[in-house]
Amino acid sequence: MQSDSNNRSGEIVQYDLSERMSFPNKEATLVAIKQYHIVEDYKFIVVESKTDRYVARCINYNNGCQWRLRASFSKIRDIWEIKKIEAPYTCLSTIISYDHVNLDSNQIATIVVNFVKANSSIYVKSLITEIKSFYGYSILYKKAWMANQKAVQESVPKTIVEYVTRHFIIDDVQDNSCYILKRVFLAFKPCIDGFNYYKPIIQVDRKILTRKYHGSLLTVIANRMM
Ligand SMILES: [Zn+2]
Repeated sequence: MQSDSNNRSGEIVQYDLSERMSFPNKEATLVAIKQYHIVEDYKFIVVESKTDRYVARCINYNNGCQWRLRASFSKIRDIWEIKKIEAPYTCLSTIISYDHVNLDSNQIATIVVNFVKANSSIYVKSLITEIKSFYGYSILYKKAWMANQKAVQESVPKTIVEYVTRHFIIDDVQDNSCYILKRVFLAFKPCIDGFNYYKPIIQVDRKILTRKYHGSLLTVIANRMM
């Protein structure tokens, strides 16, 4: 049984976890595991994560619940497979939470990538609403914003998105729920490819074109030796 978090029409498929379930790679395996936990409101911790093996267990493993999952890479079949689920979940989530520990920005990116593909200028607030309607969790703006950046990178492969933020401080108190965007660098793959064919240009800002240079020079084209 091969699974994927998104089907061809771009709709998100929800699924249970079971032994012998297989996935094309480790990333898809983790997406399925997180998806299951977020939808069911169970929480897990990672026991072991290697290039060919992954073990997770319930956050309440030492308090009675015996859920533990082991997945590994099969060299022969070239797939990832859930090898063992030790016991069903017996713990109940009694904590009312507004966010989920396993709902990280990578997981959100896999959900919102289709929205971003359809509309690259979609508002982060709209993505928060989508996640809320899908999972029932209200995620932090920063988490949604980071997921949006990852989704942009995924929807346009090899696009580079880098950003720097700083903390928001009110009356000398740091507000950890807010961040201020300092700068963002965004380079789309077609632009990176096209860069090799650009003519090197030195552009002169017209503010310095005063006095004897007034209006006489706007741009200079340099040769490739410069
Ligand atoms: Zn449990």
